Amino acid sequence: MSNYNRRDFAKLVVLGGIGYTVFSCTDASKKSKSTPTETEKEKEAIPTMPELLPENIKLYQKADAEYQELTVRFNKRFQQSPTYIAQCFTTQGVVDAVKFANFKDLKVVVKSGGHSFEGFSSTNDGLVVDVSAMKKMEWKPDHSLIVETGCILKELYNEMLPKQRILPSGSCATVGIAGLTLGGGYGFFSRKYGLTCDSLQSITLVDGKGNIHHESGTSAILKACKGGGNGNFGIVTKMKFRTYQAPNFFQAYRCKAYKLTTERAKELLQTWFRYTKNLPNTAFAAFVLNGKTLTVLITNYSSDNKGVLDMYNALKAISDKATIGSKRPLARALQTFYGVQHPIYFKNACAGLYKDFTQIEGCIDDVISKVISSRGLIYQVNTLGGNINSAAAEKRSVFPHRSYPYLSELQSYWDKPSQEASRLAAFKEVQDRFYKHGIRAHYRNYPDINFKDFETSYYGKYLPELKQIKKQLDPDNRIQHPQSITV
Ligand SMILES: Cc1cc2nc3c(=O)[nH]c(=O)nc-3n(C[C@H](O)[C@H](O)[C@H](O)COP(=O)(O)OP(=O)(O)OC[C@H]3O[C@@H](n4cnc5c(N)ncnc54)[C@H](O)[C@@H]3O)c2cc1C
Repeated sequence: MSNYNRRDFAKLVVLGGIGYTVFSCTDASKKSKSTPTETEKEKEAIPTMPELLPENIKLYQKADAEYQELTVRFNKRFQQSPTYIAQCFTTQGVVDAVKFANFKDLKVVVKSGGHSFEGFSSTNDGLVVDVSAMKKMEWKPDHSLIVETGCILKELYNEMLPKQRILPSGSCATVGIAGLTLGGGYGFFSRKYGLTCDSLQSITLVDGKGNIHHESGTSAILKACKGGGNGNFGIVTKMKFRTYQAPNFFQAYRCKAYKLTTERAKELLQTWFRYTKNLPNTAFAAFVLNGKTLTVLITNYSSDNKGVLDMYNALKAISDKATIGSKRPLARALQTFYGVQHPIYFKNACAGLYKDFTQIEGCIDDVISKVISSRGLIYQVNTLGGNINSAAAEKRSVFPHRSYPYLSELQSYWDKPSQEASRLAAFKEVQDRFYKHGIRAHYRNYPDINFKDFETSYYGKYLPELKQIKKQLDPDNRIQHPQSITV
């Protein structure tokens, strides 16, 4: 907002808006010879310019200094230029942003933590509703926590851990709680406490017309936001979460293997799958094949560690190096998994959810040999299962993958844009191998623009339910991104 102060700018837009409204109404009434009642109805349907108060919303365009900062996303591969960015500070600000978009006939894209793998929280030709400045948190006496949706994971951990509370969610510091929860959300604590969305008790949501909804209990809208809410039919501004007593310690076990051949990597993977079956629900395991180097991570936070030790010992016997970390206080331990906190070039995508190893046995040799022979390609399998696979949680959410105990992902990171083409080509080759082999179930939070049947891959049997909610909340498809739900 280079040349105006906030209030001047708000006035300017409001005045411009009134002009537009008067013109539209006059024009419409001149054209039609309808009865007064019909004209009234018509007027009602014509979007009007909302009053944009700076305590609720600031609107930016390309010439504004703040605009550049607000277009930055975690994935540097996407550098989009929206027509407007609405930086919102309150739910009313989000309402005004949506009404402004309706008035200007712009599509709306939602941004919280900005970590979408495929740049789904920005656009080149619409309005971004950016809630990342909305960071209030409020504890309730029953230890539930209301958070505004601009909060990122490390802010939540910083608030919860000193109070000995946790929420089962992801590990990377700068991921937004909103995007993570609305697509499901999993991490170290999920096998015991469920997905992040399973702890979601209520929400405040602004729909495609700018109406506010407060949803809790058995609400169909709340259910749709547990696994199907990412930028599809509303902008969530507040979330209330149940929290849990934090464990006293956290421990990590690691096995490493180097210069792997396909045969050896496959043996390690089979062993990994076999032993994950007996892990306690307090444990999490990941198999991370980065080129020819393997890291297996097993974590646990309870003294029931028989299954963990069995797995560690079996893998240690066929690895090159193995270490057991000390029992560390949770806050300090979690910080070691915070990851990179500044924007980077990368391509990540789901590589399928599996029931067990047999599901990928027919293509895994090919996959491993491609990963081993390609620079910078990472294939990772993570454990889900445990209490994620709960019938009660299933009934209250639209996350369709609960019966899959394994979630895999492909990753590639690079430093210079010139490296992108070759990285993406190798990435696609591995994806094609999985696709040909019939791997189709994918996690919504690990999206890929190239997934052919993305709607069923992400939402499975819940797709009709989600389309119904879209029809109810956003029939004009105001809120959208390249893979959003359509009516
Ligand atoms: C480094 C990294 C680590 C990750 N680790 C994990 C992990 O451990 N566990 C896990 O489950 N996932 C993980 N993810 C995936 C992560 O859950 C998704 O990328 C998630 O969508 C990011 O949310 P965000 O708010 O940061 O992103 P954004 O880019 O802001 O949004 C992502 C999507 O959600 C929509 N959205 C955002 N805010 C709202 C809102 N308020 N209302 C409605 N729709 C909204 C956007 O439109 C977009 O489609 C990780 C991703 C990265 C990049």
